[in-house]
Amino acid sequence: MRAPPAPSGDATARARQLPSLHQLLQTPAAQALCAQFPRARVAQALREGVAELRGALVAGDMPSHAAGDAAFFREAEARLQAPRLAGLRAVINATGVVLHTNLGRAPLAPEALDAMDAVARGYSNLEYDLEAGTRGSRHAHLEALLCRLSGAEAALVVNNCAAAVLLALTAWARDGEVLVSRGELVEIGGGFRVPDVIAQSGARLVEVGTTNKTRLADYERAIGPATRLILRTHPSNYRVLGFTAQPERAELAALAERHNVPFMEDLGSGTLVDLRRFGLPAEPTVQACVRDGGGLVAFSGDKLLGGPQAGIVVGPSRLVQPLRAHPLARALRIDKLSLAALQATLALYEGAEPPQARVPALRMLAQSQAEIARRAGLFARRLRRRAPALDCTLRDDHSLAGGGALPEAQLPTRLLLLRHATLSADALARRLRAGRPAVVGRVVEDHFALDLRTVADGELAPLLEVLAAAAQGQEG
Ligand SMILES: *Cc1c(COP(=O)(O)O)cnc(C)c1O
Repeated sequence: MRAPPAPSGDATARARQLPSLHQLLQTPAAQALCAQFPRARVAQALREGVAELRGALVAGDMPSHAAGDAAFFREAEARLQAPRLAGLRAVINATGVVLHTNLGRAPLAPEALDAMDAVARGYSNLEYDLEAGTRGSRHAHLEALLCRLSGAEAALVVNNCAAAVLLALTAWARDGEVLVSRGELVEIGGGFRVPDVIAQSGARLVEVGTTNKTRLADYERAIGPATRLILRTHPSNYRVLGFTAQPERAELAALAERHNVPFMEDLGSGTLVDLRRFGLPAEPTVQACVRDGGGLVAFSGDKLLGGPQAGIVVGPSRLVQPLRAHPLARALRIDKLSLAALQATLALYEGAEPPQARVPALRMLAQSQAEIARRAGLFARRLRRRAPALDCTLRDDHSLAGGGALPEAQLPTRLLLLRHATLSADALARRLRAGRPAVVGRVVEDHFALDLRTVADGELAPLLEVLAAAAQGQEG
């Protein structure tokens, strides 16, 4: 840190000459702010602005603006606006990352929203058996549906996939050993590290094989009297390439069975449809893991499945039952709104139409470049009319699946690249983030880029308005 220069007499004098709060409040600019915000808050914002200028002057800095000029009031207005940006609110995701964890992952289908609405407005049979007229279980509602879709014998839904993994490890391996390949000891993001979750469950991690190669014989050697579980985890965003080996799922499951040790797979994203249909790389489906693994399979509700935040565990009854009965299940339980949305989302996988016609996340993933290019072309035409200050060009690029799934998948898209005559790409991005609704895109070189893959048709009109509003005015 540099030492503050001694204030020159000149700077101190200038600091003393700053206008008073009373004088500032009389100006037309302050009056305009008072029409929008409570007077006390405007006074506070102006006081902070003056204090900042005084601090700068005394420190010997040359502030870029003076008290009472246009920039001073723009800054005051930004200060007044700031609380409006706080709190959870809707965002238009123009990043092209379909399952963007920071932006709330999968948008829900209208069917899921209706189901949440119906359950939220009044009471529901959440834990009530309508046929018997007695207490029921919240876990009963989805079980049959999940079993039909996955081919498993039993199913349990909890708060999220991390909770499902923690619950299964605790119920099956507490005080015992869990075998995991060294190639799967990954951090998935948001602090979910496989070794840490195992430690949290009270189980001991036994590392098997090496980072790039783990063979069946390595697992076999590691099995001992304290072994309680063999865990296979989907490496999500991480890939070991080149000189690699992992045993096949079925081989590993057979080994577990021979030694009478439960087998579990943390699939993470988890999809019920073969993604190769959409031109995407193959991901093991939940059904394949159930069929070839024969153990527990855990996956998320709000990644490739396209539903609400939830953690789903499917598998044989004898492996699922201890999870249901464990005290931790109560602490990790799913709430009724998520349950309603998940049920409605899963039902779309059994509907007459293919799921990508109804589940927004799948629709976005399945959208072809030709379709995105068509939508981008139409939108560019509307934008040029509505916001001529934005220079708008189109460029082929790639979107991402996100959510830890398909990190290498190249989803061809067409970007809208925007440039403003006076605003930098970063300044434009800042304005768009402050929009209502907020718009989040990418900055590509010195352009602000929009990928319409993740923008629903119903969001195009509000997007146009936010862009037009942001394009007005000067740098600020
Ligand atoms: C994403 C992920 C999780 C965590 O899932 P949440 O539903 O976010 O809790 C766990 N394991 C793997 C392999 C994942 O990819």
